[in-house]
Amino acid sequence: MTRSYLYSPWRLDYILGEKPGDCVMCRARDTEHDLENLILYRGKHAYVMLNRYPYNNGHLMIVPFAHVRNIGDLDPDSWQEACQLLILCEKAYHLAYHPDGINVGINLGQAAGAGIAEHLHIHMVPRWNGDSNFMSVVSGERVIPEAFEISYERLRTQILKLVNPDE
Ligand SMILES: [Zn+2]
Repeated sequence: MTRSYLYSPWRLDYILGEKPGDCVMCRARDTEHDLENLILYRGKHAYVMLNRYPYNNGHLMIVPFAHVRNIGDLDPDSWQEACQLLILCEKAYHLAYHPDGINVGINLGQAAGAGIAEHLHIHMVPRWNGDSNFMSVVSGERVIPEAFEISYERLRTQILKLVNPDE
């Protein structure tokens, strides 16, 4: 009986997380707990979520629903919507954060830095002149002064206003 070894909830999460074929992006897609999963917005073919391990305040990911590894494997509708969501999030960043710049990127494969290589996603990171992001590259340290709940609320408010301007 393996049950006697499950002495804490996080341990259970860990064991469930080890299941082969399991995918964090798919699990977030299939849940209804958007706040818990930091999902900011859902489209028809892709969703937007805050990164739990951010390189800067407001670091988000655009995640196609389809579980594919390569850009070339993504169907045209999903790719088109992902690009529309890029535009939406760019606008939301400018309204919510007034950044001096924005990084947009895709890491294909673990050698390229992909944490979850099997499920394609696009990173967006707002940047400010003189921000300390380089520290995360050189030392593994991150400077994140803003709480997730605040980033979530701030960005979600702007995204919903952009999507439903009349409400
Ligand atoms: Zn997946």
